[in-house]
Amino acid sequence: MKVVVIGAGTMGHGIAQVSAMAGYETVQVDATLEQAEAGVARALRNLDDGVKRGKVTVDARDAAAASLRASADIPSAVVDADIVIEAVPERMELKQSVLATADAHMPAGALLGSNTSSLSITDLQNALTHPQRVVGLHFFNPVHINPLIEVVRGRLTDETSMTAALAYVARIGKEAVVVNDSPGFATSRLGVLLGLEAMRMLEEGVAQAADIDRALELGYRHPMGPLKLTDLVGLDVRLDIARYLHEKLGAAHFKPPAILERLVADGHLGKKTGRGFYDWSES
Ligand code: NAD
Repeated sequence: MKVVVIGAGTMGHGIAQVSAMAGYETVQVDATLEQAEAGVARALRNLDDGVKRGKVTVDARDAAAASLRASADIPSAVVDADIVIEAVPERMELKQSVLATADAHMPAGALLGSNTSSLSITDLQNALTHPQRVVGLHFFNPVHINPLIEVVRGRLTDETSMTAALAYVARIGKEAVVVNDSPGFATSRLGVLLGLEAMRMLEEGVAQAADIDRALELGYRHPMGPLKLTDLVGLDVRLDIARYLHEKLGAAHFKPPAILERLVADGHLGKKTGRGFYDWSES
């Protein structure tokens, strides 16, 4: 069975890694071969770390590494795929165009997944010739560690595709929650709201970032506070989602706080740029 992952960034390299570890022949695609290869290299580094920490056997690492390859060409990569998953940036037109290219070249009966955090699966389906095979496969960061996948049923998704999606989730050893298509699904709608409220509290001077985070980590047993989590996800990613939810749901509590707009405009996108709500330059 063959999985093709389009987009080799924060999420895509992890999706490729867990697919290869589950025994799928896996192709990592990006806009250029260098970017696709960088995604594969990142997945291999995660596997090496897993070996060092005793979480992955040497045999499992070697088998996964042998199943992974890079490509910069969607049509030739997907032509014999069983499952194609896109993890390109959270922009509707970009995702529609990438999905349409995959849909036009992949075999009839193959599953097409989108790792969107919030965009409407039904809107993505509307751009395609075979909308019934599209499902949301919403992975969580870091993909090789987080157990959850939100499986999103679009209005046009058929049951065969839902069954195939749930079988894929089970084979890669993750847990599924099934959600009907709705802006932000279950996770982003709740999780982003918490992050936005934490930012407003920071703006109002209610407490320091570290204290807001520790309040939820210790008081409510969240494994990570909402501001630190925003730094890991990427402030730009969270801002895109907040704008989208604000537009779609019309609720004032999804309006992006000024502090988020300002940090993104200044290029402070979180851990990936060394600064967000925290200073990551030493880590
Ligand atoms: P990212 O920016 O780290 O990676 C996106 C990758 O897509 C880049 O490598 C980019 O070169 C590539 N790309 C762009 N256009 C392309 C094209 N036309 N063809 C092939 N590759 C292309 O983004 P990310 O954080 O991995 O997010 C990807 C998706 O996953 C988004 O929809 C995001 O909302 C979702 N998501 C992100 C997180 C997170 O924690 N970052 C969590 C869950 C879901």
